[in-house]
Amino acid sequence: MSSFKTLDDLGDITGKVALVRVDLNLPMKDGSATDVSRVEAVKPTILELAEKGAKVLLLAHYGRPKGQRFSTMSTSFVQGDVEKVLDKEIMFIPEVMGPVVEQSIGILGNGDIGLLDNVRFWPGEEANDAEFARGMAAHGDFYVNDAFSAAHRAHATTEGLARHLPAYAGRAMEAELKALDAALGNPEAPVAAVVGGAKVSTKLDVLTNLVGKVQHLIIGGGMANTFLAAKGVDVGKSLCEHELTDTANRIIDEAAHAGCTVHLPYDVVVAKEFAANPASLRTCNVHEVADDEMILDVGPLATEALADVLKTCRTLVWNGPMGAFETEPFDTATVALARTAAALTQDGSLISVAGGGDTVAALAHAGVKDDFTFVSTAGGAFLEWMEGKPLPGVAALTA
Ligand code: ADP
Ligand code: MG
Repeated sequence: MSSFKTLDDLGDITGKVALVRVDLNLPMKDGSATDVSRVEAVKPTILELAEKGAKVLLLAHYGRPKGQRFSTMSTSFVQGDVEKVLDKEIMFIPEVMGPVVEQSIGILGNGDIGLLDNVRFWPGEEANDAEFARGMAAHGDFYVNDAFSAAHRAHATTEGLARHLPAYAGRAMEAELKALDAALGNPEAPVAAVVGGAKVSTKLDVLTNLVGKVQHLIIGGGMANTFLAAKGVDVGKSLCEHELTDTANRIIDEAAHAGCTVHLPYDVVVAKEFAANPASLRTCNVHEVADDEMILDVGPLATEALADVLKTCRTLVWNGPMGAFETEPFDTATVALARTAAALTQDGSLISVAGGGDTVAALAHAGVKDDFTFVSTAGGAFLEWMEGKPLPGVAALTA
């Protein structure tokens, strides 16, 4: 990983104005946040800058106003939640540049925090307009990006500002970049990747990138059905993208060429209807799936074999559940494998990094979210990173 500056590289910042990009796009209900983990993630950065005497100006987007001012999408709605988490009063500033911002900076004391309005109210944000970025940059002495979740976007506050001000990774960004580097950038081998979820089509670029980087590619979830079908297995009425079997075979070939072992389930949990604990539930070999059955989870023998694979590995990167984990008992393989990975991590033999909306939910369901080395909540940015794509927000910090 090319190196980036962190808050450790800041000199004396007393009285300096910090423009800090954060993710405050909180899920809201009845005027308050239902989950403040995004604020908790950026709290260390904000407080560290404040304690060092900077005037901290927070930049964030909220919702999708598409370049127009919508009173319902003002960041002022999250001000109360941010204050609660920081345990500090903050000043709401209803602009992102100009005289109102300049006056507000004059009112803020050293160590005070201001929250600017929704950066996406201005079309220059998503267009990454240089004039717009320059207008904001004029108010600041330096720029801190602590929003990895927005790093796959080349927007003015995620990328453009780094062209106009000295740029630093915030503490959350720093932790995320270090964890991702340890997982796929410069990992300790052998590396295993678990890729599951519903469809091959949403993870094609992930699979293609991983075959060249990992020693073990463990495929589960609905997408394993497409790979099984590609190998001539009759998967009954399982979720399966039959039109992608050629693609699946190409990935298998590329893996063989790269020395990557592809692990597909050899036993599976099937049912005739998709419901909790259905009467038709049974476990069978992949070659015994009936025409009216669907595969909903990886079977117990394969799960045990996969646990043994993880035991031989030093690094694990995981995206996508192994089965339809929201419905019992199709959470069994996901929960078992997650607990194995967590135990190996706690023993110090495995570095484990996971991400993806449903994956985070599955790990929480298994009760092991805090036992992995790192769990990314960045969603789209995490997936693009798994696809091996350069993230503009990260590139701007490392330039
Ligand atoms: P993530 O959000 O972590 O990237 P995905 O969105 O790709 O994960 O996949 C999650 C979904 O895949 C879950 O809703 C799960 O129910 C579904 N899924 C997993 N295995 C199967 C299966 N065998 N059949 C149908 N759906 C499955
Ligand atoms: Mg999902």
